[in-house]
Amino acid sequence: MFMGHYGVSFAAKPAHRRLPLWLLFVAVQWLDIWWAVLVMLGVEKFRVVPHLTEAFSLDLYYLPYTHSLFGALVLSALLGGLSAPFFKPHGRTFLVVALAAFSHWLLDLVVHIPDLPLIGDHYKVGFGLWRHLWLSFPLELVVLWGGALLYAHYVKATSVWGAIWLWVFVAALTFEEINVSFGLVGPFFAEPAAIAALSLSIYLLVALLAGLVGLTRKTGT
Ligand SMILES: [Zn+2]
Repeated sequence: MFMGHYGVSFAAKPAHRRLPLWLLFVAVQWLDIWWAVLVMLGVEKFRVVPHLTEAFSLDLYYLPYTHSLFGALVLSALLGGLSAPFFKPHGRTFLVVALAAFSHWLLDLVVHIPDLPLIGDHYKVGFGLWRHLWLSFPLELVVLWGGALLYAHYVKATSVWGAIWLWVFVAALTFEEINVSFGLVGPFFAEPAAIAALSLSIYLLVALLAGLVGLTRKTGT
């Protein structure tokens, strides 16, 4: 899944108001952040195969650490554990952050073709919704906007500018969703390391912008 992951970040905020929005934005892409790093290090691998599916052109043939079910559970627990000491109540912090991180694997499971291993590089699963753009694209928007609407309802803006900024941000995420789904801009690179570096910068930039949205909301940090 692409931008749809961020719907979970928005929806998770009312469940634990002390957590900064940027942390929830990092959490839902935590597996992909590690994926980008491991691809740049040459540990995990993929190749570009144009039109592999209607919505996605990367053949992710080796993802044993970040996108196996086992790896995803370990990495999700790791981020929950790293975050827990910083925000009270600690148990709830662990749970909300770890679940947000693990939601990445569950949403990926829906859209990926069978390239997600259960353990190591074995027993690959994926329901393959990316084969049908007319299904995967609306699903991404429903998850993203559903989460954003929950957030807007439960976490009030401190000013009219705060209210506007949230929807500017959601509009930018929607534009990026259209871009990646329909391949409007790019692909700029064919090299996996360059694609991974670009993805990583987008994840970090989006988390930074989410942090700015958080500053304009009542419970936000
Ligand atoms: Zn992923």
